[in-house]
Amino acid sequence: MIRGLKAPSFMDLALKTAENAGKAGEVPIGCVVVRGYEVIATAGNRTLTDHDPTAHAELVALREAAKKIGSERLVDCDLYVTLEPCTMCAGAISFARVRRLYYGAADPKGGAVESGVRFFASPTCHHAPDVYSGVGESESARLLKEFFRERR
Ligand SMILES: [Zn+2]
Repeated sequence: MIRGLKAPSFMDLALKTAENAGKAGEVPIGCVVVRGYEVIATAGNRTLTDHDPTAHAELVALREAAKKIGSERLVDCDLYVTLEPCTMCAGAISFARVRRLYYGAADPKGGAVESGVRFFASPTCHHAPDVYSGVGESESARLLKEFFRERR
C-alpha cells in the first residue's frame, strides 16, 4: 500500500462526481474508470435513484466501463473512487481484473481494503489490484462529513 501520492486529476473528477451525487441526495461517493489516459466511465452512487442496493459508484462505473470495452475484464484499467470500497465493490474490482485502485478516505465502518475483511489480502481473492490510498482524502472526507451533518 502506497500512501501520500499527489491527487491526480482523475481523482478530482471522481470528487466532482461525488459532489453531484450528493446534490442528488445520494451518499456523495464518486468513481472514475480510466484506461491509459482516457476516462471510460464515471459514476456516483445511485442506490436511491435506482432503488438498487448494489448501485454503488464503483459497480455502476465498472458496468459502464465493461459495456464500453465489450469485455467483463477491465485489464489495463485503473479505478479511482473517493472512499475505500466496501466488500461488494472490492469483490467486483477483483473480478474485473482492475489494474490499480486509487481511493480517497479510508472507511473503518464499511471498507474492505484496509478495514474490515481486507478482501484483497484474503486467500479467496484471486486478483488484487495495486492499491494507492489517501488520494484526495481530505476533500472526500469533507464531502461525506458535510452530507451527513446536513442529514442529522
Ligand atoms: Zn461498495
